[in-house]
Amino acid sequence: MNLSKKIFDVDTIIIGGGLSGIYAAYLLSQKNKSFVILEARTRIGGRILSTEHQGFFSDLGPSWYWPSINPKIVQLIQSLGLSGFHQFEEGLGRFQNSNGLIQTVSGYDMEPPCWRLSGGMMALITKLCEGIPENAIRLNHPVCEIEKKSTGALVSVGELEKEPWSRFTTKKIILALPPRLAAATILFTPDLSHNLTQAMLRIGTWMAGQAKFCALYEEPYWRQAGLSGQAFSQQGPMGEIHDASNNSQGPYGLTGFVSIPAVQRNHQQRLTEAIFSQLATIYGKPASQPTTFFYQDWARERFTATQFDQPPMYEHPLYHPPAGKTSIWDGTIHFAGTETADQHGGYLEGALTSAERAVMNH
Ligand SMILES: Cc1cc2nc3c(=O)[nH]c(=O)nc-3n(C[C@H](O)[C@H](O)[C@H](O)COP(=O)(O)OP(=O)(O)OC[C@H]3O[C@@H](n4cnc5c(N)ncnc54)[C@H](O)[C@@H]3O)c2cc1C
Repeated sequence: MNLSKKIFDVDTIIIGGGLSGIYAAYLLSQKNKSFVILEARTRIGGRILSTEHQGFFSDLGPSWYWPSINPKIVQLIQSLGLSGFHQFEEGLGRFQNSNGLIQTVSGYDMEPPCWRLSGGMMALITKLCEGIPENAIRLNHPVCEIEKKSTGALVSVGELEKEPWSRFTTKKIILALPPRLAAATILFTPDLSHNLTQAMLRIGTWMAGQAKFCALYEEPYWRQAGLSGQAFSQQGPMGEIHDASNNSQGPYGLTGFVSIPAVQRNHQQRLTEAIFSQLATIYGKPASQPTTFFYQDWARERFTATQFDQPPMYEHPLYHPPAGKTSIWDGTIHFAGTETADQHGGYLEGALTSAERAVMNH
């Protein structure tokens, strides 16, 4: 039998193994429903990415949650037996103006208070996966086409214009990826309405145009100098820097968001050197010699960002389901993904909200 030609039949297909897809799977598992997650990348987590160094996980995607306004995340962290800690903010801050001049400024606590997860944000995904059958997650399965059938749909995996790698028939689909990415990369047959397609393309994917940097050290040089690690810069290349250390011991870390627009971030080596030079200017020479460092440019990730996500996004959009629809094709496809949440859209909390809605309605 030629396996590549075999069509698999599944009750529910979840497209995307980021937080919204994994949480939807976790909720379906609790209801004893059968499903498969099709994940395009060779890893799960989506925008959640925590890189390990000597047992410590640096967050190159989300690192914060806000307990006072994120009740679902807080409840999930507790129920999974995980724990968090307050973002380190003790000490003075630094400000670098557009000429590169450094000023020491009084530190301030972020409002509302933000917390980090012990074990990195990936701990959330890893723990949720303990409640999901291992064979339900198919990595390296990029969905390229969804075709409506008289009942349910046919889902093709592979690259458009080529013979699909595999195909699945299903009664229900939970589309757990950014709507803009879905509209730009998946062929829907029959066509989605013009109105819906445009609405999906217009929803900016939160942080998709960003690049993040983490540097780890054996000593917290900035803390020893009375600095919190918090810095803002008008010159760059990092526009915003924060402490990213382990909770109560080493390694110690600094993390930053690159303020240079995605289209200008072509030369990673030069950018890294400029970041080290900026760290030395702000925190002193030892900061330019970390034990290790990590860099992730999300704008170059084809399973996160599209061409529309390359220009910088200056404001947090007001998210809601695309064209006001939480499902289409008579309830065959349900939208999940944080950008479809009408509360906390763009954030981890929104990913949970959208997954709950999709599972409840599906
Ligand atoms: C640098 C950065 C910092 C952030 N900081 C914070 C923060 O501090 N706090 C916070 O709350 N939020 C933050 N966010 C946002 C947070 O990461 C998202 O809200 C959340 O991770 C979104 O989860 P999701 O499941 O909706 O989408 P995603 O994580 O994007 O998951 C979508 C999944 O679909 C997969 N996929 C894509 N195309 C296909 C396809 N064709 N077929 C199959 N699979 C496909 C992708 O590989 C991915 O795994 C940050 C994001 C970034 C990038």
